[in-house]
Amino acid sequence: MSEYTFRMEMHMHTSEASPCGKASAAEGIARCLRLGYHGCVITDHFKARTEQELLGINHDLPWREKIDLFLSGYRNAKAAAPNGFPVLLGVEIRFKDCHPGSENDYTVYGVTEEMLYANEGLYDIGLPAFRRFAQAHGLFVVQAHPFRFDMTHVKPKYLDGMEVYNSNPHHDENNDFAALWADRYGLLPLSGSDYHGDGPRRNAAGQWETFHKKKAIDNPDAVRNLEQFGEANPPGGLAFCQTVSDNAALLTALRNRDYRLIGTEI
Ligand SMILES: [Zn+2]
Ligand SMILES: [Zn+2]
Repeated sequence: MSEYTFRMEMHMHTSEASPCGKASAAEGIARCLRLGYHGCVITDHFKARTEQELLGINHDLPWREKIDLFLSGYRNAKAAAPNGFPVLLGVEIRFKDCHPGSENDYTVYGVTEEMLYANEGLYDIGLPAFRRFAQAHGLFVVQAHPFRFDMTHVKPKYLDGMEVYNSNPHHDENNDFAALWADRYGLLPLSGSDYHGDGPRRNAAGQWETFHKKKAIDNPDAVRNLEQFGEANPPGGLAFCQTVSDNAALLTALRNRDYRLIGTEI
């Protein structure tokens, strides 16, 4: 039997801090507990104009208030989690109008609250400069859902890893291509659910609602997954062989490739 039993959700959003998030931090933690995770990393969208989208305001907040807002989901998740359930801080960063890959999303692990407060405009600097920042601070940079349509492939030197399994039900992730690419370029493979809380619900007749053209209620794979997990795709994440309760432990395990992927056989 595998000793890799400590399961972490590596990619999840909260409605407090992600404009596309449909589940609160507390609901996200409840989902983690229901699915048998032992910890999670909150990776809300970290990008320009989030506060306009979240709050409907048309002016910029001071940087400190932007970060307060960004951290609200993470802080609520920590407050909602039971004792012994680590909630770590991550970001899913998108760079504003910067080449290469301005539509791309990157999940980043190892960030701290202080780091975010102290680096105004961090999402304006573009991927090459962010790579230098990440290396200076020991961060782990992963291209999220890299073969979702409209994503741009970037030079592997800017990355540590690549999501080869992303179980977001609302996009065609082309995870198989991501796995090939990661293997070809020596990028570490990661898995995460990209949980937004907007999965299908049962209707009054007890059937799963149709919510995606490829995940209709008559899709046997989706229905089986819904019955087993409550989600149309098997949830993602990483399994570690020891408790991962802080950034240092997470970064060490990631860099040593000392983990197993959840949700995929790779
Ligand atoms: Zn989103
Ligand atoms: Zn995401």
